[in-house]
Amino acid sequence: MKIIENNSLKYQQFYFDLLADIVNSATDVEHIFQSSIEQLKQLIDASYGAIYVYHQRVQQFRLMHYQTDNGLFLPLEIVKRTNHYDGDMVFQHAPSGHEVKIIPLKSIDEVEILFVFSVGQDRKPFTDKEKGLFIKETEKFLSIIIPLINNKENKHNYEFLYELSLRLFAKNAQAEILNEIVDALKIRYPSYTYYLFLSQDSDAGCLPIKMIQYTDEQTESKSTLAFLTGELQIEIQVEKNVANIYAPLVGDQAIYGVLQIITPISTYFSRKSLEFITQFANLAGIAIERITLYQNSKEQVSSLSFVNEFSRRLNSNLEIDEITKLVKNEIINLCHASEVGFIFYDQENEAEYIVLAESTAYFSSERGKEFTRLLMEKIRSDREMIFSGNFTNHIASPYHSVMAIPINHADDTNGLAVILHEDKYHFTFEIFKLMQALIQHTSLAITNTLLRERLERTIITDYLTGLYSRNYLEQSIEESFDTDDRGVLILFDIDDFKQVNDSYGHHTGDEVIIQVADTIRQYVDIDVGHVPARWGGEELSIYLPNAKLEKGIEIATRIRERVMVTSKPAVTVSCGISTWRRGEQDTTINLFLRTDKALYQAKRLGKNRIEKN
Ligand code: GH3
Ligand code: MG
Ligand code: MG
Repeated sequence: MKIIENNSLKYQQFYFDLLADIVNSATDVEHIFQSSIEQLKQLIDASYGAIYVYHQRVQQFRLMHYQTDNGLFLPLEIVKRTNHYDGDMVFQHAPSGHEVKIIPLKSIDEVEILFVFSVGQDRKPFTDKEKGLFIKETEKFLSIIIPLINNKENKHNYEFLYELSLRLFAKNAQAEILNEIVDALKIRYPSYTYYLFLSQDSDAGCLPIKMIQYTDEQTESKSTLAFLTGELQIEIQVEKNVANIYAPLVGDQAIYGVLQIITPISTYFSRKSLEFITQFANLAGIAIERITLYQNSKEQVSSLSFVNEFSRRLNSNLEIDEITKLVKNEIINLCHASEVGFIFYDQENEAEYIVLAESTAYFSSERGKEFTRLLMEKIRSDREMIFSGNFTNHIASPYHSVMAIPINHADDTNGLAVILHEDKYHFTFEIFKLMQALIQHTSLAITNTLLRERLERTIITDYLTGLYSRNYLEQSIEESFDTDDRGVLILFDIDDFKQVNDSYGHHTGDEVIIQVADTIRQYVDIDVGHVPARWGGEELSIYLPNAKLEKGIEIATRIRERVMVTSKPAVTVSCGISTWRRGEQDTTINLFLRTDKALYQAKRLGKNRIEKN
């Protein structure tokens, strides 16, 4: 290159050409520096030229790019910022016979650089005057090109993020979202390696995705720090010659993981480009959050419709085993549990409990009972539910993932739903929250039913009619079979009762049942042991211990005739009668069945009549 005598003009001309050359092609600051150093080296006629960029985060100048004629000079990667530089700061030993010039420039748009040239002794000395001109013209050039490129990069970044967000928000499956994110990384950083560390399970297949692990050695790591603090972290690994960037995937409600980008150690990331990575990771975080919430809400809707379906069925008088079976199946469905148990505390004795029949077998085993006791004690002492992915205890239970959620009724805790799995960290926090909602929604139904069944077992009168309960009737017949020689069972069913309900409403329907019950009461004698009872619904019944068939028919006939004239709105009853006698190898069940069959016969033969069997 021709040496221009007027040095000022020389640099002006040089930068003018360079500007024209790169203004349209440069995409980032790194690109500008690479082009400049190659051409500056020629211009200055140096045998070595290098450029260092100040990395704010690690507070060091790092070598970005260098050109050397003879390969003799091996530069150091890192230079500290000082007031005075000498050749040994750049080379281990400044090359003899060469003049090393280290030229710091003022910071431009937060970019600070250090030029290093080495010129042979055969070259005209690089005078202070020339150095001054070089600095002046270079700074002028950089203050034009850097903001220009930064703006361009900025605009490009915005477009990129905008396009990506459109794609991400069009997707409704987690795997698709992760795919988009990885594709975007491939486009943006084709030469880097990257991983997504996620805090929850993903169905990501072959993508570069890992679960966040909390091992001891990792707790201290920058990636954990990024996850915990929500701040971008940079880690320099000199021995591997790489720099790791960890950007947390931050959503509105939580942090969903960390994006790791592995770059060569010398890669320069301006504040803008780090900002871009932060924004990129935020966008990814929000997309993952959205899909997680979406999936959760889908699950919640299914649990909600389950609860609706459940209460509908409850109205048709489900028994406790059927209820717990429904809930159990739903739990296994939703969170793939290995064991599900429903534990109810004994009201009288704190330490005692019962395991509901539909619980899985583990809870009836000795080890399961021991484990259950341990959970009960823990909940009682900690006063909070258990959600653990690594449950350790002295019993050595094979279940590492444990959820124990109290079953509350009003303000009382009546029991515990226990959900277990062998694998560590099997249940996600989202699942735990869902289970909490599910148990909360169903515990009312479970306890109500349990209490109702308990009550039914002990109560002897029917609340509507004041007659005996069916339970008491059954007990009385059992006792009569033990002590008496014979007996008569009468069963009444109100005819076309549905029409009463349909025409007058349920309340009037109830009134009619009460009227029939009152009529029955008039014709029986409790003092001689007659047992008038509500069989269920609009079916009423009388047991006459030690009575003969004729006595039964007589009483039933009177009642049937009386109901016809007293009931309002008027109804009729059909009646079935059957008897038993000692020595005929009969059972109470058979007596019930025969009576029921007789009633059916009465209905079939036209209603408002009595049939015996
Ligand atoms: P049938 O002559 O064959 O007995 O006809 P039915 O309409 O009486 O039919 P069924 O015995 O099968 O139905 C009885 C209806 O009584 C069904 C139910 O809706 C209603 N029911 C059952 N228990 C009660 C109750 O406690 N109160 C009221 N109001 N209705 C009841
Ligand atoms: Mg009926
Ligand atoms: Mg009926």
